[in-house]
Amino acid sequence: MADFNKATIGAVPNPILAEKSDPLHILQMVKNLKHQPITGVTDDEILLRARNLAQLESFCGFLPIWKGKKSPMLKYGGEPHLSLQEALGFKPAALAVRSPNLLTLDYDKESSFDFAAERGIDFTFPTTHFRRTDNDERFKQVFYCPDELLAELPNRSIKRTINYCGSGLDVFLSNSCYILCDGEHEKGKGRYYSPSGLDIPDLATPPKEVWDLALEIAQGEPKSRTRKRYYNTKSRKMNPCIICGRDERLWCSESDNGLIFCMNGSTFSSELKHGTLNIGDVVDGYALVKQSPTCNTFKFHEPKKRHTPIRPLKRRKALARR
Ligand SMILES: [Zn+2]
Repeated sequence: MADFNKATIGAVPNPILAEKSDPLHILQMVKNLKHQPITGVTDDEILLRARNLAQLESFCGFLPIWKGKKSPMLKYGGEPHLSLQEALGFKPAALAVRSPNLLTLDYDKESSFDFAAERGIDFTFPTTHFRRTDNDERFKQVFYCPDELLAELPNRSIKRTINYCGSGLDVFLSNSCYILCDGEHEKGKGRYYSPSGLDIPDLATPPKEVWDLALEIAQGEPKSRTRKRYYNTKSRKMNPCIICGRDERLWCSESDNGLIFCMNGSTFSSELKHGTLNIGDVVDGYALVKQSPTCNTFKFHEPKKRHTPIRPLKRRKALARR
């Protein structure tokens, strides 16, 4: 087990101002750009942010982001990491960061905070946050996962997991996912930034509750490169849940593709209501199709239809004799 107490970017090997980017030069670059991909009003603020971002270069790459979009200005899959200075060379309006070592929890809906709270995950835990100045209800919480932690995951990564168990929480840990971290939001109103105390130098390794969630998600991933992608579907809260009866702190949801995510809480859960369940068990017309410590997933149970009509025995024998 990795040491969860060893935190902060100070513990990152070869950290602090990778020689690749010179913050003073970056300040000059930023001041000459049409858009401002590094957030800050005064020169000192921009310089500080550039210094902080540059610290990520030892294990992260930067991506330049188009004005008015959320997409990178270049293909990056399988490509080497760009330094901060290289990314700024594209004259982007915003910047994103990617790394095989960054675990991201993306709190995208109010329900994601309930989900976190129920699992003992502290969404105010002091590590790096990437937020938006125009929206403080959505943010990304980022953790540093050293290689010895990655070794505990079957694929050493977690693919982009959207709306995990209908919670509204997105989770990923992959060099092929990127996180918008600085500059203009696509709609041009807000800007990405990290609050004081939750800035890049505050980057920490994940506390146990967070890492347990990562392990749970990773163990649900097949150990293969050709995994079918599961796209996000809309889900709505059930009041009460038709499986467990939950009618407070509404947490169980029904997706528009007919799945029911019944969450395992301490007061309500499918097994508290119906006893021990195994995959395939049918509860009130819904079959249990997936089990995890967090949630039991049910699907409307359709009894198997017979595809070949059974003919009377005599007729079949008669046919066989022909
Ligand atoms: Zn339920």
